[in-house]
Amino acid sequence: MKQIYLDNSATTKPSEASLQKMREALRICYGNPGSVHQAGIDAHRMLEEARRCVAASLGLRRPADGQILFCSCGTEANNQAIWGTVYAKRRLEKGSSRGKILITDGEHPSVENTAARLESDGFTVVRIPTRGGTLNLEYLEQAADDSVILASMMLVNNETGALYPIREAARIIRRKSPGAVVHCDAVQGYMRVPVTPTALGVDLLSISAHKIYAPKGAGALYVSAEMLRGKRMIPLLMGGGQEGGLRSGTENTPAIAAFGAAVLEGMKEAETRSRTVQRLRAFLLEKLRPLVQINQPESSVDAIVHITLPSIKSEVMLRALSAAGICVSAGSACSARTKKISPTLLAFGLSQREADCSLRISLSYQNTEEELSQFADVLETQIRRLARMR
Ligand code: PLP
Repeated sequence: MKQIYLDNSATTKPSEASLQKMREALRICYGNPGSVHQAGIDAHRMLEEARRCVAASLGLRRPADGQILFCSCGTEANNQAIWGTVYAKRRLEKGSSRGKILITDGEHPSVENTAARLESDGFTVVRIPTRGGTLNLEYLEQAADDSVILASMMLVNNETGALYPIREAARIIRRKSPGAVVHCDAVQGYMRVPVTPTALGVDLLSISAHKIYAPKGAGALYVSAEMLRGKRMIPLLMGGGQEGGLRSGTENTPAIAAFGAAVLEGMKEAETRSRTVQRLRAFLLEKLRPLVQINQPESSVDAIVHITLPSIKSEVMLRALSAAGICVSAGSACSARTKKISPTLLAFGLSQREADCSLRISLSYQNTEEELSQFADVLETQIRRLARMR
C-alpha cells in the first residue's frame, strides 16, 4: 500500500538535495567545526555556507556574527528567545525584574508552556485572543504598555494555518511598549510565505529545518544586531562558547548543512512550490466542502486545511485513515499523544465537540491531485461507515 503523507506541518520528507548534503557532511566534512586542522576547517566552511543560505532566505545579505544562531529545533529556538531575553533583562537591570509578556492564545507549546512557567514565577502573561483565526489587534493595543518586556507571537498557527499580521502587531508594540523585545515563532510560516525579520519588524525569529524538507536536528534563531550589541540575549547552554557564545555544544554539522541545502532549494523553487500547493489546496477544498466543515481563518497559509468531521472523533478517523495508508493529524503532532482537547482550537472558537472531531491536513509541493482524490474518497467512505455505527 502506497502511503499518502498529508501531515507536512508535523514534519516534511527530506528532499534529495538535503539528504545528499547530509551524506557529504557525514562522509567528507565530519570534522569538528571548532577544530583548527583541515578537517575542522572543512566542517566550519560547510557550517558557514549553511548560515549564509539561512541568512539570505531571511533577507540578510551581510549578517553580523551571532545573528543566525543554529540550534537543535524550533522548540529550542523559542526557548532560547524567551528565556534568553528574560534572563538578559534581569541581568541588565541587576534585579529580579518582573514584567509583562504578551503571547497569542494559540501558541505552540514551546512558547505557551515557557510563558506559563514564567507566569508561575511571577511574570504577568497576557494571551491575545485569536478567535476565528484573527489576531485581535485592539486587545493587543490595550494590553501593550510600558511594563511589557517581551512579546512572542507566532506567524502561522500550526493547527489552523491562520496567518497573523505580525508586522502590524510589532508596530503596536514598538509604539506602546518601546522597551519590549519582539519575537516571532515563524516555524510554520518560513518558506511558505515571505518571511524576513526586517519586514515583520521583529528582534528575534525562530525557524526549524524539518518543516522545510530537511532532516530533523537543526533549527535557527535570528537575533537582531541591536540585541547582540546591547547584550540583550544570553545563552541557555553553557560550555565551549560555540555560535558566538550563545549556544554552546558542537554544532550538528550534518543536519545544519542539510538545512542550508533545503533552504537554498526552497528559495530557488519558491514560486513553483507555492503555485503547486495553492492548486492542491483549491482541489482539496472542492472535494471536502460537501463532506465536512472547513475551519477557514480570515487569512491563512495554503498548506494547512483544518476541518471538523460530522460527529466522528478525530482519533477514530485517524485510525481508519491510517489503516488505508493515509497520514493526517488531529492537531499538532507533539500534543497528539496527550489526547488533550487543543486549547488553540477552543481559542479559535470551536466547541469542545467540534475540536474533538477535527483534523488537520497539511500539504506539500510533493503531493499530487491523485493522492488528494484518494484521500477524499477514503474520507467519504469512512464518514458513511462510521455514521452507520453510531
Ligand atoms: N512552533 C511551531 C508553530 C510549530 O509548529 C512547531 C512544531 O510543530 C514548533 C514551534 C517546534 O518545532 P520543532 O518540532 O522543530 O521543535
